[in-house]
Amino acid sequence: MAKHPAVFLDRDGTIIEDIGYIKNPLHLIFYPESFQALNMIQEYFLLFIITNQSGIAKGLTAEDEVKEVNKSLIDILRSRNIRVYDLFYCPHKAEDSCTCRKPNPYFINKAAELYNLNLADSYIIGDHPSDAKCGLNAGVEPIYLLTGHGRKHQEELTHDVRICENILDAANYIINKKRTTNERFF
Ligand SMILES: [Mg+2]
Ligand SMILES: [Zn+2]
Repeated sequence: MAKHPAVFLDRDGTIIEDIGYIKNPLHLIFYPESFQALNMIQEYFLLFIITNQSGIAKGLTAEDEVKEVNKSLIDILRSRNIRVYDLFYCPHKAEDSCTCRKPNPYFINKAAELYNLNLADSYIIGDHPSDAKCGLNAGVEPIYLLTGHGRKHQEELTHDVRICENILDAANYIINKKRTTNERFF
């Protein structure tokens, strides 16, 4: 069976505005361009979300609150005909040295196993250098966004990665590249 290419998305600062630790689904603010971008990408790629939610370990958000917010985010995307195949969150903080927090490639590898993914043809999109690093650690092409914390942390990038203004810019980049390399997947 053919392996599927995927796009791994960061959550805060990538799909929605990064307003700190979100405890309530009412505080989800989508970037207006996210819906069009994800609709375009899902024609060729399976969508996944991987998010570091250290507010849980820090006691700033309850794990149930994070789950509720994530569920609501997935439901809102579904109402716009966008299917996220899975969402993974790391509940730890950096000092915990866990295996699952980005830049560790743990969740990308887990998704690859569960969903038979072709990582060599996949991408990760995020607004933090740890997102880019996570992609490189997994053998997935990173795209670094200037939304969210992107502009603030741009000089901390340790590798020469593709930089895009926002998620729609990233979608256009990915799809143009896909069109020039092979046929539509689905
Ligand atoms: Mg982010
Ligand atoms: Zn973790």
